[in-house]
Amino acid sequence: MKSWLSPRAAELKPSATLAISAKERELKSKGIDVVGFGAGEPDFPTPADIRAAAKLSLDRGETFYTPVAGIPALKKAVCDRMNSDYGVSYKPEDIVVSCGAKHSIYNTLQALIGPGDEVIIFSPYWVSYPEMIGLAGGKTVIVPTSEENRFLPDPSTLGDYVTSATKAILINSPSNPTGMVYPPETFQAIAKTAKDKDLLIISDEIYDKLIYDGIKFTPFAAQPDMMKRTITVNGVSKTYAMTGLRIGYLGSVIPEIVTAVTDIQSQSTSNPNSTAQAAAVEALCGPQHEVEKMRLIFESRRDLMLKGVNAIPGLSMQKPSGAFYAFVNCKKMYKGPIQNSGDFARYLLEKHHVACVPGGPFGSEDHIRLSFATDEDTIAKGLDRISTACRELS
Ligand code: PMP
Ligand code: GLU
Repeated sequence: MKSWLSPRAAELKPSATLAISAKERELKSKGIDVVGFGAGEPDFPTPADIRAAAKLSLDRGETFYTPVAGIPALKKAVCDRMNSDYGVSYKPEDIVVSCGAKHSIYNTLQALIGPGDEVIIFSPYWVSYPEMIGLAGGKTVIVPTSEENRFLPDPSTLGDYVTSATKAILINSPSNPTGMVYPPETFQAIAKTAKDKDLLIISDEIYDKLIYDGIKFTPFAAQPDMMKRTITVNGVSKTYAMTGLRIGYLGSVIPEIVTAVTDIQSQSTSNPNSTAQAAAVEALCGPQHEVEKMRLIFESRRDLMLKGVNAIPGLSMQKPSGAFYAFVNCKKMYKGPIQNSGDFARYLLEKHHVACVPGGPFGSEDHIRLSFATDEDTIAKGLDRISTACRELS
């Protein structure tokens, strides 16, 4: 049958993370008691002061178009936070606010990448990166990492993946799905490659405030000479439990990139939502104690998940230092009809009512991803079910 689709739409895969959330919601609406370890979004209510700011903004009548790249107060708030938290000095004109960090990455890739251009990412990677690179017409070059090396890139081989077509390296620390935080040596090695080979770095820092074990976050742009090569992407979704409000942003000191992203936005979505921008101003400028409260809760959930998973015969995981995902090696469970991460995730969902995301779309068939952005009772219940599921397979 004739297809009406463009080649890029025909090739596009839907987001595996969002597909699992949809499936989870569907089963729950049928009254099935599903344990949701699917999509990564904080389960906390958005802090009260942020919700109040959104309401006030509506009441002030701020329901009209805003400047395409975001309201001045929000751009200033982004700069102030970057400066006070990390000593990184962007100016408001370096910032473009978009409809979520995902949108900021999408816009960045649309601005930078064309047919033939290559973007390097490290595997396991967030599901949307290769698809967004593909939508821009570019080619994704995947640099594998090993679980034995805690999923950290091997700096000595990075240069081997750079060709004359490489334009950028897209990094994500803390990482979704592995939870790994790149140590300074890894950042330094990536920075050296960027400098030697004249590349840009797109640094997705959406989990910067969700780091455990006392590890300190450093933005990639804070490294010597890297400000001018880095497009820093962040947002309020994860830190402030504001996923549905859809505010993300990027910072770049290269004016042509900022202008191109703004123009792309002006011809596609126009400004991000006005009410959500007002809420994001409060998130970034208001009291920050809720952030630490949520982080501490995530850290104890991480500990529970880590202990529980590693106690199940046949499963294992590395200790995540950030974000809220357990990337679980389940290869030993592949037997009979279960031969890959999709089969195992389907088995867990259909037979044991535990929703998780298969590792395949993250670049690893040996793993499944369990989000621990859910309460401890649910984590305990889910681990119990997974334990039973694994026992039944042995
Ligand atoms: N990057 C990574 C690695 C993520 O996990 C997410 C979560 N959705 C995003 C970007 C985008 O976040 P948002 O669009 O909700 O700001
Ligand atoms: N980033 C989250 C996840 O990986 C939310 C879903 C999405 O945006 O893909 O689950």
